Amino acid sequence: MSFIPYGRQQISQTDIDAVVEILKSDWLTQGPTISRFEQAIANYCGAHYAVAVSSATAALHIACLAAGLGSGDWLWTSPITFVASANCGRYCDAQVNFVDIDPHTYNLSITELEQRLKTAKNQGSSPKIVIPVHLAGQSCEMKRLASLAEQYGFTLIEDASHAIGAQYQGHPVGGCQFSDMTVFSFHPVKIITTGEGGVITTNSQALYEKLIRLRTHGITRNPDLMQGESHGSWYYQQLELGFNYRMTDIQAALGLSQLTRLDTFVQKRRQLANRYDELLADFPVLLPWQHPDTNSSWHLYIIRLQLDSISRTHRQVFEALRASGIGVNLHYIPVYRQPYYQRQSSDGAEFPEAEQYYQEAISIPLHAGLTDEEQIRVVQALQNALHL
Ligand SMILES: *Cc1c(COP(=O)(O)O)cnc(C)c1O
Repeated sequence: MSFIPYGRQQISQTDIDAVVEILKSDWLTQGPTISRFEQAIANYCGAHYAVAVSSATAALHIACLAAGLGSGDWLWTSPITFVASANCGRYCDAQVNFVDIDPHTYNLSITELEQRLKTAKNQGSSPKIVIPVHLAGQSCEMKRLASLAEQYGFTLIEDASHAIGAQYQGHPVGGCQFSDMTVFSFHPVKIITTGEGGVITTNSQALYEKLIRLRTHGITRNPDLMQGESHGSWYYQQLELGFNYRMTDIQAALGLSQLTRLDTFVQKRRQLANRYDELLADFPVLLPWQHPDTNSSWHLYIIRLQLDSISRTHRQVFEALRASGIGVNLHYIPVYRQPYYQRQSSDGAEFPEAEQYYQEAISIPLHAGLTDEEQIRVVQALQNALHL
């Protein structure tokens, strides 16, 4: 029997035609299709600006730089995330720390954050940037985060790599009503794809102008931003140290085409998640709890084993599922457990909720192309793996 992956892209003939059209055109790298893609993302999210880049990792990096993160600063994020949410701080030579998760949503705990902010303020080690991660596609409680950001004076960058197509209080994630910037990923396992790619949305013109320079070597061609006079129409100036983090028009064409199906993809994911809720209702597992202010894009369906009620270990259940062709995964190994981060200095913070989560969590397959039959196969395999 075939292997069922936990996530997978959906590529249609329309997507293929859109890419081929660009291949036959004058522009391959950053050209008119990038602007169209950025405009479409900004419109979808209700943000003033969108900046397309080569990956969400690149997006997080230049978002941190645009916010002024540097040596001696602190960046805080959730430990239950992909390493990129933390690495962006290290790229800027800042120190990284983690805030334990909420036991219901598995997102960064706002109660814990508030306590840690109080302590850090007294010790003079307040964070310059906090990166909440919308795990599995469920938004963090942005309103509460925004009020802490105002009180303690940090920049908020949403890592919404899982959450394009999701809503918070009825508004699309990425509108930045309650944050400075939002980052999306278009890696093939995410909700829509450009192969590799990312976008930053913002409502700040100042941040937008910094971001577009940073993705192209720190170079500007706008005479208004130059020091002194322009020498002529060939002239450009490098104002700061930037990178080549550009997305190509080929990728943007795929992204534009995928974007027209985003709502359909998310709707399908929601249906499948609801069906898992029903099929697994009597299993000795904790199902994903949803905060009433959120409407998830369901990048992941994460269950937690109730180990007291089953005779198997977490690892046995996981391996049994893999052996029966179910592409389960574990999102994520707590980032502070990575050898690289164990070598970094830490202030002795502890993460009991993240630790317990790591002992119990399993992501089961969920993507827009998952069939009803495949979903039943996943449920039966889980039943067998749990020895029910
Ligand atoms: C995938 C992912 C990233 C990195 O995205 P890339 O586009 O692969 O660089 C960052 N953060 C989270 C939470 C992710 O899931």
